[in-house]
Amino acid sequence: MIKKVLVANRGEIAVRVMRSCREMGITSVAVYSEADRTAMHVRYADEAYFIGPSPSNESYLNVNKIIDVARRSGADAIHPGYGFLSENAAFSERCKKEGIIFIGPSAHAIMTMGDKITARKTMIDAGVPIVPGTEKISNKKKVLELAKGIGYPVMVKASAGGGGKGMRLVNEEKEIMGAIRAAQSEARAAFGDDSIYIEKYIESPHHIEFQILADNFGNTIHLFERECSVQRRHQKVIEETPSPIMKPKLREEMGNFAVAAAKAVNYSGAGTIEFIVDDKLNYYFLEMNTRLQVEHPITERVVGVDLVKEQIKIASGQKLEIKQGDLKQFGHAIECRIYAEDPDNNFMPSPGVIKHITEPLGLGIRHDGYVYEGYEIPMHYDPLISKLIVWAKTRKEAINRMKRALYAYKITGVKTSISFLGRIMECPDFVKGKYNTHFIEKNKEFLMGSKKRDRKMEDVAIIAAFMDYTYKMEQLEARAISGNGLSNWKNCGRRMSVRRI
Ligand code: ADP
Repeated sequence: MIKKVLVANRGEIAVRVMRSCREMGITSVAVYSEADRTAMHVRYADEAYFIGPSPSNESYLNVNKIIDVARRSGADAIHPGYGFLSENAAFSERCKKEGIIFIGPSAHAIMTMGDKITARKTMIDAGVPIVPGTEKISNKKKVLELAKGIGYPVMVKASAGGGGKGMRLVNEEKEIMGAIRAAQSEARAAFGDDSIYIEKYIESPHHIEFQILADNFGNTIHLFERECSVQRRHQKVIEETPSPIMKPKLREEMGNFAVAAAKAVNYSGAGTIEFIVDDKLNYYFLEMNTRLQVEHPITERVVGVDLVKEQIKIASGQKLEIKQGDLKQFGHAIECRIYAEDPDNNFMPSPGVIKHITEPLGLGIRHDGYVYEGYEIPMHYDPLISKLIVWAKTRKEAINRMKRALYAYKITGVKTSISFLGRIMECPDFVKGKYNTHFIEKNKEFLMGSKKRDRKMEDVAIIAAFMDYTYKMEQLEARAISGNGLSNWKNCGRRMSVRRI
C-alpha cells in the first residue's frame, strides 16, 4: 500500500486529494511556488517543499523539480490532480522509470487518448460511435471536398486540443480556410502541435460524460453520467447528475460504450469518457480525459464513492472491490464553479486579496475550496476559487438548495461569479432541465440583463445582514459584560476583529 503521496498540484484539488490521503493514513507532501508560499495546500500537507518561481513552467510543470522532491521526501507515489502534469505521458513514463507510482494511467493510454485523431481511430476499432469526421488533414486541397462530404456546419479541431482551444465552428464553405489557419496557429501556440481534423457540428448538443474506474486486473466499471452542457466558450460552468435528459436504456448503452472505450487502451485508474448527444439522443464519443475531473464530486455524492481513494487503491495494485451491479444513483447533485472573475465585465479574471469570506454551510452542501480571509489569489494560475456542490433527493430540491447556498456565500475583495450562477438557478430553461450547450448564449438577457436591479438587491441584503450581525454582536457583548455567556466573549472579539480587517 502507498504510504506517502506527493501531490503535484495546488489550489482546491491539492487540498481535496490530501483530505483522502489523511483519511487513509497516508502522509501527504505539498510542492509550492513563490506565489503559493501561504497557500492552503501548503498548510494542509504533512510536509511542503518549495519548487521555484510563480510561472507554472518553472514550478508545477517542471518535471525534474517534482521528481527531485519525490526523492528527497521519500514519497512512493505522485498524484497529479487535474491540469498541470496530469495528462503528460512523458511524466507518467518518467515516474515509472524512477520507481515512483504515478496515480493515473499508463503513458500509452494518455498518449492514445490525448491525441484526438488517434483516439478517434482507436474508438472506431473498439466499435464506439464517434462524431462523423475526417482523419488528420494533410492535404489542404482536399479540405473543401471533405467538409462538403460531412455537410456544413462543421468543426475544425486541433488533435492536441483541450480547454476549448484550437476549435472553430464553420457555417459555410467560404469560412473554412480562415478557420483552419486560426485553429492551427492557436494549437501551435498552446500545444506545439498544429495537426487538425474536421468533424460534423452537432446541432443543439448536450455534453454528457461518463465516469469510469479501471483496475490492473481487467475490471472496468462506469459510475454513470454527468451533464455538463452549461458552458461558456466550450468551458463547463455548472454540472449536474443525473442528466435531465437521460433515460435508463440510454444510460446503460452509453455506460457500456464508456467501459469499452476505456478497455480499448487498457485503462487503469479514474477517467472520463465524454460524449456529445444531439436532440434526438444520438450520441458520439468526443474525447477521453485521462485524469480526475474538476466535476468529480457530483458523482462521488450521488454514487457514494470516494474517487481519489479508489485511484490510490488501484495505483497501489489493489483489485476494484466495487461491482457494476452494486452501483446506484441516489438523489441529485449539482456543482457550481466559483471563479474570481467579473461576469459584468466579460468574465475578466479578478485576482486580488480575499477580504471577507462566508462559506455556505448546512445540510447537503460540500464546499471544495482553498481560499481564506487575507489570502491573495495569484494571477499566475486558473482563477477558480472553489466548487460548491449540493445534494438533495430530487433535482428541484437540489436547485433550491443551491440557491440557498449561493445566497449565503459571500466573498469580498475580488469579483466573483456567484451572482451569475444564482441567476442560472432562477432561469426557467435550467429549472425545467431544458437546456443544451447554447444555454448561456440563448439566455444571455436573462442571465446578464437584470444586473442593475440585482446589484441594488444585493446591496440591500448585505446592509441588512451587517445590521443583523452588529445587533447580535451587541447582544453578545452586553451578555458578556453582565457576566452571562462569558465563553462567548472571546469568540465575539475574534469575529469582530476579523470583520474589521
Ligand atoms: P476540449 O478538449 O477543448 O475541451 P472537446 O472536444 O471536449 O474540446 O469539446 C468541448 C466542447 O465543445 C463540447 O463540450 C461541446 O460543447 C463543443 N463541441 C466540441 N465538438 C463539437 C461538435 N462536433 N459539435 C458541437 N459541439 C461541439
